Amino acid sequence: MDIRPLGLDPSHCLIGAEWIAPKSGQTLPLINPSDGTALCDIAAGDAEDINAAVASARAAFEGPWGRATAVERGRVLARIGQLVLEHKDELARLEALDVGKPYKQAMADVVALARYMEFYAGAADKLHGQTIPYLDGYTVYTLREPHGVTGHIIPWNYPMQIIGRSVGAALAVGNACVLKPAEEACLTALAFGELARRAGLPAGALNVVPGAGAQAGAALSAHEDVDHLSFTGSVGVGKLIQTSAAENIVPVTLELGGKSPQVVFEDADFDAALPFLVNAGIQNAGQTCSASSRILVHESRFDELLNAMSGRYTSLKAGPALDDLDVGPLVSQRQKQIVEGFIAKGGDLELAASGEIVGDAPEGGAYVAPRLFACHEPDHTLAQDEVFGPVQVVIPFRDEDHAVAIANGTRYGLVASCWTRDGARQMRLARKLRAGQVFLNNYGAGGGVELPFGGTGLSGHGREKGFEALYGFTSLKTVAAYHG
Ligand code: NAP
Ligand code: MG
Repeated sequence: MDIRPLGLDPSHCLIGAEWIAPKSGQTLPLINPSDGTALCDIAAGDAEDINAAVASARAAFEGPWGRATAVERGRVLARIGQLVLEHKDELARLEALDVGKPYKQAMADVVALARYMEFYAGAADKLHGQTIPYLDGYTVYTLREPHGVTGHIIPWNYPMQIIGRSVGAALAVGNACVLKPAEEACLTALAFGELARRAGLPAGALNVVPGAGAQAGAALSAHEDVDHLSFTGSVGVGKLIQTSAAENIVPVTLELGGKSPQVVFEDADFDAALPFLVNAGIQNAGQTCSASSRILVHESRFDELLNAMSGRYTSLKAGPALDDLDVGPLVSQRQKQIVEGFIAKGGDLELAASGEIVGDAPEGGAYVAPRLFACHEPDHTLAQDEVFGPVQVVIPFRDEDHAVAIANGTRYGLVASCWTRDGARQMRLARKLRAGQVFLNNYGAGGGVELPFGGTGLSGHGREKGFEALYGFTSLKTVAAYHG
């Protein structure tokens, strides 16, 4: 297949106003995980290309983009959002082919990307400083200023949503960005760069350099002229990024993994909960940082919930992304091997139910049938480690304290939910659950562009999404004027 996102040559990088080949001339193959065939070659950017991209971002920041007013920044973001919607079918198709996500889920990501642009377009001119009462004869105020050049290193699982929340917010407040998408899925990042150019974003305000993490990613995170790093990805690479940030003393936002629990009490509305419990585990084949991979349920209703979830699991179908079934392939054969390794470790647990890989799924595709396990050991690997595949465990608890202890009993803390009709218990759990987001009688709130998001513990630190992100992408300056 020869893929040309929006007519572009995918083996090029966006640097300044131009799409150019990487200096080394090297490329990497991009694979379609639905059948294992090559989609196209992408640029294998390295330190030289990153240097050029950072220089271009610096020039934009010190030039027209740095001088753009908040209203102008908002308008250009709004135009990008419009173009995203005008090209929504192409973007969804590219993402489905590249990531392997079912078309409808890819389309939801396109709509979320447009929403991020709309949200940050509207927010651009609403961020302001404060005046602070001080000594007699002084006027003191604060200014919220962009950091300058921001580096964005993103994973392959939700490229469009993560571009929306990190690049969108960074641009809204006037930073100039260098984006390093994942080598396994970068087509929509390239398309986004082109749409931003067509929308009139000044040259250099957004640069896109695909390439391997160890080359392009490492060069970006270590670059001395980058003023802020936003990283979404694994804990292991997150540590490297934080170390690089420490070397240059720059702020860093880390959005890492999770082992997010949903806690189902005995009085919960099971019918309302059921779709959320399952979907949060199998969406994007479980390759979601905020996937809910642990379902905790009161022991009095353990069998009932396990049966109900099993009923759903046995009807789940995995197949090619463009067939738009419940689950697509995993992003790569490598990811499939990792997930199968975890499933093998569940050999000592009771396998409650499995989904099915459709008969005509291509041999070369990275398919894994969804698995649901009953788990009576909260310390089991499948109840502690992030699988990043369509695997959930159901764990019984005795009482509220026990539930909280299990829910908080991993090193992660990204998202949690609580299902109960008891209002006082909802309030207690909202406080006690260790997570950056807690949902009461729902999960995920439909993506929640407006809702601040981020982790504690191994899930990372800093917040993206919502208005809160704008604080992270700015630096506060205090001005104290003495006028007597
Ligand atoms: P990853 O291996 O950490 O990769 C993330 C990004 O970092 C990719 O662009 C990657 O490039 C790059 N990278 C790799 N090595 C690097 C290095 N030495 N220096 C700088 N950059 C480097 O993560 P992944 O496997 O793609 O994604 C899965 C993980 O991301 C999961 O743990 C998941 O929970 C987490 N995640 C978290 C969130 C969140 O918001 N909290 C969202 C999505 C995913 P390559 O593409 O070349 O490897
Ligand atoms: Mg791919």
